[in-house]
Amino acid sequence: MNDDYYDLLGVSREASTEEIKKAYRKLARTLHPDVNPDPAAAEKFKKVSQAYETLSHADKRRQYDMGGGPGMGGFPGGGAGFDFNDIFDMFAGASGLRGRGQGPVPRQRRGGDVLRRVRIDLRDVVFGTEQKVTFRTAVLCERCSGACAEPGTSPTRCTACNGSGHVQRVAQSLLGQMVTMAPCPTCGGHGDVIASPCTGCSGHGRVSSERTVTVKIPSGVEDGTRIQLRGEGETGEAGGPSGDLFIELSVTGHDMFQRDGDDLVTTIAVPMTSAALGATIPLETFDGLQEIDVHPGAQPGEEITLKGLGITPLRRERRGDIRVVLDVDVPTSLTDAERDLLQQFADLRGDETTRRQGHGPFAKLRERLRDL
Ligand SMILES: [Zn+2]
Ligand SMILES: [Zn+2]
Repeated sequence: MNDDYYDLLGVSREASTEEIKKAYRKLARTLHPDVNPDPAAAEKFKKVSQAYETLSHADKRRQYDMGGGPGMGGFPGGGAGFDFNDIFDMFAGASGLRGRGQGPVPRQRRGGDVLRRVRIDLRDVVFGTEQKVTFRTAVLCERCSGACAEPGTSPTRCTACNGSGHVQRVAQSLLGQMVTMAPCPTCGGHGDVIASPCTGCSGHGRVSSERTVTVKIPSGVEDGTRIQLRGEGETGEAGGPSGDLFIELSVTGHDMFQRDGDDLVTTIAVPMTSAALGATIPLETFDGLQEIDVHPGAQPGEEITLKGLGITPLRRERRGDIRVVLDVDVPTSLTDAERDLLQQFADLRGDETTRRQGHGPFAKLRERLRDL
């Protein structure tokens, strides 16, 4: 997608270089990754910077205006004339934030986020649960408590950059001499040097270790739900803030119940006679053994509800129900005695059966169907 550079910066096509610069500064103050963690903002910042880079240089701007588009010929080496220092100056001035090349870079860095998958079963979904999760991650170095230097020693000011963390570099470009700021190679931009790094963590302020965290899992969670535990991830470098721990839940299937919203649904097979005569059938639920009353004449597919024995939804009190779907079990084999009894039953009701073939009212029809 090629956004119009003038639109991106919100300036007219006749805008002066000064106006373009002003517009860019204003946008950068809200979009720069240092002030806005939103990835969409970072993406926009990239585009806006690209627009600024082109429009702030007369030659590139002319080329862009002529329809050459961005990066079409012109300057070998792309951003050869782009004055980064200008933008970083602006940041240091505008928000007090330190950009690269402005002052030493702190050693502290936020620790990474950790993602762990945890298996729970349907009972855990119904009632909620607590689980211990053990994982290997970066933890604070006990020897130096994150200071990175061997106890009893402390970092010394870097002599190569005089503690500023950056050095000037002069480069020749097509536009002439260019002075840029680069991180000091001696101290890595930190402005100080740790002569005796902590032997416990090799100067990182953190070490790899197993950690166990107890995770409270509320009832009503779904398969794939992620629980965020702030600050329970990796410990940051040099005593920096910790990342977060994300627990992704995986709910194992249950052989009796399926979840339907907050309800639990199950199908039970009732003997044909029980469906006809009525019966009380035991059902093991998460709240213990329950009795299901099958009324006389219950039909296949009929639903019986056990109120309040389902799932407690997330952040709500009232539990869902258990819905029992009846399946009527017709015997597949009969003993002689059973067959005789059933035949008597059928005869009483005048039901058509195979045994009475040739006598019943449907016999003729069946014969005709067979002949077809
Ligand atoms: Zn240490
Ligand atoms: Zn240095």
